[in-house]
Amino acid sequence: MERATAGDTGMPIRVSVPPRTLLVLCGPAGSGKSTFAALRFGTTIIVSSDHCRELICDDASNQQVNRDTFDLFYYIISKRLYLGRFTVADSTALYPDARRRLREIARRYGFLACLLIFDTSQETCLQRNELRERKVEARVMPYHAGLLQQTLRDAPNEGWDQIHVLGEQDMDTIIEIQI
Ligand code: GDP
Ligand code: MG
Repeated sequence: MERATAGDTGMPIRVSVPPRTLLVLCGPAGSGKSTFAALRFGTTIIVSSDHCRELICDDASNQQVNRDTFDLFYYIISKRLYLGRFTVADSTALYPDARRRLREIARRYGFLACLLIFDTSQETCLQRNELRERKVEARVMPYHAGLLQQTLRDAPNEGWDQIHVLGEQDMDTIIEIQI
C-alpha cells in the first residue's frame, strides 16, 4: 500500500494505471472524492452512487433506496467494463462488501482494481459538509471516520492490485492512464 508522501517531497503523487482499470474511490462523505474525480475525468467515466440514487428517485440523498441505487451502480460499472472502458467508481466504499463487489466486477472483466483511499480528517469532512448545499446528516460523520480507520487496516489484505492513500495535502495527485 502506497501511503502519500507528497508532503515529504513537495511533488504530487503519480498514480499510473492501464486503460483497463477500475479506479475505486473510497472515503467518508465530504472527503473530496467527487471533486477530485470531476477535476480529472469526464462525466461519463465517473459512475457515482449519488447520481444513481438521483436517477431513480430524484433525490441524491434518499437513503431508503440503497438497494436499487447500488443495483444500478454495479450494473453501469459492469456494462462499462464489459466494453473495456476505463471507469471511476465514486461511492464511499467504506464497507468491505462494497469493496468486494467492485473488486469482483474488475476481476470478471480482466480489469486492474485500484483503490484510492481519501484519508481526510473528520474535522475537515464536517467543515466541508457544512459548506455544501446537499449535506449529509452530521451524525454519520463519526461513523464514517471509524469505517475509514477500519478500511485503512483491512484494505492491504483484500486483494487490490494497487492501493493509494491520499492525505488532505494530496489533492494534486496525478492519475496517469498508460497508453
Ligand atoms: P465527497 O462526499 O467525498 O464526494 O466530497 P465532495 O467532493 O462532494 O466535497 C465535499 C465538499 O468539500 C464540496 O463542497 C467541495 O467543494 C469541498 N472540497 C472538496 N475537495 C476539496 C479540497 O481539496 N479543498 C477544499 N477546500 N474543499 C474541497
Ligand atoms: Mg461525492
